[in-house]
Amino acid sequence: MADRSPDLSPLVEILKALRSGKWRQFLRGSFVFDTMSFRISVLGSGSRGNATFVATGRARLLIDCGLGPRVLRRRLDAIGEDAAHLDAVLVTHEHADHVGGLRGLLKSRSSAPIEAYMTRGTMEGSGAGDFALNGSAIVPVASGCSFTVGDVEIEPFAVPHDAREPLGFALRHNGVKVTQLTDLGWIPDGVCDAIRGSDVLILESNHDLDMLRMGGYPWSLKERLMSRHGHLSNAAVSQFLAGPYDGRASHLVLAHLSSQNNHPEIARQEARQALEARGLDASIVSLASQDAPTYPIELG
Ligand SMILES: [Zn+2]
Ligand SMILES: [Zn+2]
Repeated sequence: MADRSPDLSPLVEILKALRSGKWRQFLRGSFVFDTMSFRISVLGSGSRGNATFVATGRARLLIDCGLGPRVLRRRLDAIGEDAAHLDAVLVTHEHADHVGGLRGLLKSRSSAPIEAYMTRGTMEGSGAGDFALNGSAIVPVASGCSFTVGDVEIEPFAVPHDAREPLGFALRHNGVKVTQLTDLGWIPDGVCDAIRGSDVLILESNHDLDMLRMGGYPWSLKERLMSRHGHLSNAAVSQFLAGPYDGRASHLVLAHLSSQNNHPEIARQEARQALEARGLDASIVSLASQDAPTYPIELG
C-alpha cells in the first residue's frame, strides 16, 4: 500500500532553523525575503566614520566601513541586522573615515568570510594588501566594470576626490537603483550619467560655503574642502538638483555633513528649495547622521 503520510520535511527544516537561532539565514534563502528589493540604512556618515548598509533577499553589503567593530555592531543591531552576516564591503576610497574599520571586520573570527571590493589605488592607499584576511578576500575592481554580489549588480564609477582611485557605487536589483555619492569635489558629466535613474540617492552635502569661509579651519584645509577634489557644498547640491538631476528618486538622503561647517537644517532647506523650484516633491529629502543609523528605507 502506498505511503499516504504527508511530507513534513519543510516543517522540520523550519523547526530546526528556529531552534538553532538561524531563522534569519533560513528566511534569506526562502520566498519571504525574495520579495524584498532593497533595505537601506546609512549607519553613520561624516568625518568620524561612514558606513551604509544595503540588503536584498540574497546579499547583505556595506558601502564603506569607517566605523569601529563595536559601533558597527551596535548600529546594525539597532536596525535588526547582524554584523556576522555581511557578504561584502564596497570601499569607495582609502580615507580613514571610509576604511578605518575594515581591518578589524575582516580579522574578526565571529563573522562569515567577507569580500571587500576596492580599486587597486584604494588597496595601495589603505594598505589592504597587509590585512589579515581570516578567509575573507580583497577583490580589485575598476571604474566602469560592473560586478555582482548575490543578486545585486554593482556599477562602480570614478569620482573627483583627493584620493588615489576613488569610486562611487550604483547598485541595481529588481529594477530598483540605489546610488551613494559622497566625497567628491564636483559632479562631472560622467558622474551625472552614472547616477541617472536612481530611486534612492545618498548624496554628499558637506558644507555651507559661508560657514566654511568664516569658520576656524586653516586656510589650506578650507581650500582643500572647496577644491574640485574636495567635498560637495550645499550650494553644489542645489545646483545639481536645479539642473541635471532627473527628478526620479523617491528618497534623497543628504550625507557626509560637516559638524563644524554645516547645519542639518540649512542643508535640508537648500535641497528642498531646489526641488520645490522645479515643482518636484521636496518630502523625499532626509538626512544621514554621524551618530545614529537612519530609519531603514525599504523598496520593492
Ligand atoms: Zn569622507
Ligand atoms: Zn574622502
